[in-house]
This record gives sequence, C-alpha cells and structure tokens, in this order.
Amino acid sequence: METRTLPANPDALTEAAQLLHQGKLVAFPTETVYGLGGLAENLEAVRAIFSAKGRPSTDPLILHLSQPDLSLASADGWVASPLPEAALRLAKVFWPGPLTLILRRGPKVHPEITAGLDTVAVRCPAHPAAQELLQKVGVPLAAPSANRFGRISPTDAEAVRQELNGIIPLILDGGPCALGLESTVVNLVGRSPEILRPGAVTQAQLAKELGQQLVSRQASLKKHEVQPAPGQLVSHYAPQTPLYLCEAPIKNLSPGAFHIFFRKSHQPTGGKSFLLGAEGNLDSAARELYRALRKADSSGAKKILIEPVPEGAWAEAIRDRLGRASSGTAHWDGGAWKFFPKEKP
Ligand code: AMP
Ligand code: MG
Repeated sequence: METRTLPANPDALTEAAQLLHQGKLVAFPTETVYGLGGLAENLEAVRAIFSAKGRPSTDPLILHLSQPDLSLASADGWVASPLPEAALRLAKVFWPGPLTLILRRGPKVHPEITAGLDTVAVRCPAHPAAQELLQKVGVPLAAPSANRFGRISPTDAEAVRQELNGIIPLILDGGPCALGLESTVVNLVGRSPEILRPGAVTQAQLAKELGQQLVSRQASLKKHEVQPAPGQLVSHYAPQTPLYLCEAPIKNLSPGAFHIFFRKSHQPTGGKSFLLGAEGNLDSAARELYRALRKADSSGAKKILIEPVPEGAWAEAIRDRLGRASSGTAHWDGGAWKFFPKEKP
C-alpha cells in the first residue's frame, strides 16, 4: 500500500475523514504524540489498528472524543452513566488536553477496543488538526500512538512514516508535537483515583482539582514487577539499541556509544550525542526525548547512555518512559563504564 503524507489542511482533513468512514486508518497529530486513528464504531477498523501496530489484543486503545463535554459521550453510549463527579471535574479543567480518563465502558464500545475490559480510556485532544478531524468524522476515533508495538512513539510525521510506511494510506502532517510524551492516564474506576501513566498533567495538578492525593500505580515498576493493568508493561517505548540510565551526569564518554545529555550538566565533547532541553527547561526535554532516542537508534551506536533526569514538572513522566525503555543502568567506576542489566520481570 502506498502511504501518502499530506499537510493537515482542510482538504486533507476532509479526505482523511472519508478514508476513516470507509474503515481505513489515518495517522494524525495530537499535542502529545501522533495517533493512529480508526472509526471506533467499525470493528474492522479497530482490528486493523491492532494489526498495523502488531499490538497484542490485550493492550486497549484510547477513544478520542471531539467534544470536551463528557456528558455528551455518555449520552451517546461511549462511557457509562452515571459519570463520577471526579471525571466531570477533570474533563472540565483539563480537556481538551493531555489527560486520559479510565471510566466504565458504555454500550457503544466494542470489547475489542478495550481488550475485553469493562472500562474504557477516553481523551479529548487539543491539537487543532485532531479537533478538526474528529469534528469532521463526527464519531470517536479509537487511536493508540502511531508506532509499531513496543517502539518509540512518533512525535512528527516523518517518525510515523518510519514506523508505518506501506501499512496505512494516509499520514496527516501537523508539525512536531507540542508536548512530545503520551497523555497522563488516570483511573477513575475503583475506590480512589490512581495515575496509571504520568504525563503533562501532573500528580500535583490532579490532587489540587480532586482535593485528594492520587495513588501512582507505576511506583511498583521500580521493583520490576509485572503490572496487573494493561499497558503497564515494564518494557515499552523502547529503542532498538540498548539504553542505559547513568547514575550521575556523564563526565566520560563511553566508546562507540550515543550520549544523551541534559542541559544543566558539564558535557565532555566529541562522539555522538544529543543535548536535551537545549531551550533550558524540561518542557523542551520532554518534547525532544523521543526524537533523541530515534536519532540514537539510527546512529549506528552500540549503546545509548542517558544522564539522570533533572527535577521539574516533567521529571516523573520522563523517568517513567526511560525506566521502561531502558535495558539497565550504567556506572562510571573511576576508570571504565560498568553496565548493569535490568532484572527481567
Ligand atoms: P497508547 O495510545 O499507545 O499510549 O496506548 C493506550 C494506553 O492507554 C494503553 O497502553 C494503556 O496504558 C492505556 N489504557 C487504555 N485503555 C485502558 C483501560 N481500559 N484501562 C487501563 N489503561 C488503559
Ligand atoms: Mg503507545
């Protein structure tokens, strides 16, 4: 199949909506990462998403809504009613935006979208092209990130092409993603709200709106446990080249490796490298992280070394992704680099 990339202008968006109504898949920009969309009410399209990604049927998709008003989604049968107060509150404050809510599944949602779970993930994206596409389509799109399963999420149209060329008919190019890391996922089904995946919307912002602290499910990732919830795999978002998390800022280069620095540290010169957050903040580091990992992957380096993540609003989300992407840790013992593989879960 020929894959075309078109700038996300009104004509291309109209064509994309037509393809989607024919049950085809379209990659589109969002403010987090690029999504691979299919019509949520078309089971063939939903199945095509899993097969295009090589994604196991046990990993559920996120429903993308055109309207930030959750009560419309429940009236239309996509999420169950009554809606929890907390859901209405968070949608009101953070939508459209990088927050995914886990709610009880409505009768319209085919169980294959949710990997058989009775819960469904919903989000209303803020990117203008995503908004326009969803409005033209008129029904929710099921859309995971537009990468092959387990690989790095794409943050520009070229990265989508590297992942899905020849597999889908159309990529809408809306430029580089403004945020660059996947949405925060909050589970609102159960006794107390919990964060399943950290992202741009932080624990502190959520706690402030809900008036209570949220449990972080990914805490146990540090112990390399297998996660009970879907999409919580310890190894995920991974480059093909082994990635090692350095215990301290890199003062000495590792021969043949690709080095990823954070702006604040004192960097040795030479070798293959990427400076994250060159604009001076973690926002830009988050935005560039996946691009850096892709660059490292295509550099021919045998290993990727990355410095510790500096403190800041994005630190938790970046550490979460790096923890899953990494093969282990690296330590400079004063004379040489030592590498410690991650325990297999
Ligand atoms: P992606 O859009 O590729 O980041 O994938 C969607 C992710 O959303 C999944 O991998 C899960 O982490 C999460 N997710 C989707 N549906 C559910 C659900 N019903 N329960 C918990 N997590 C979910
Ligand atoms: Mg993904």
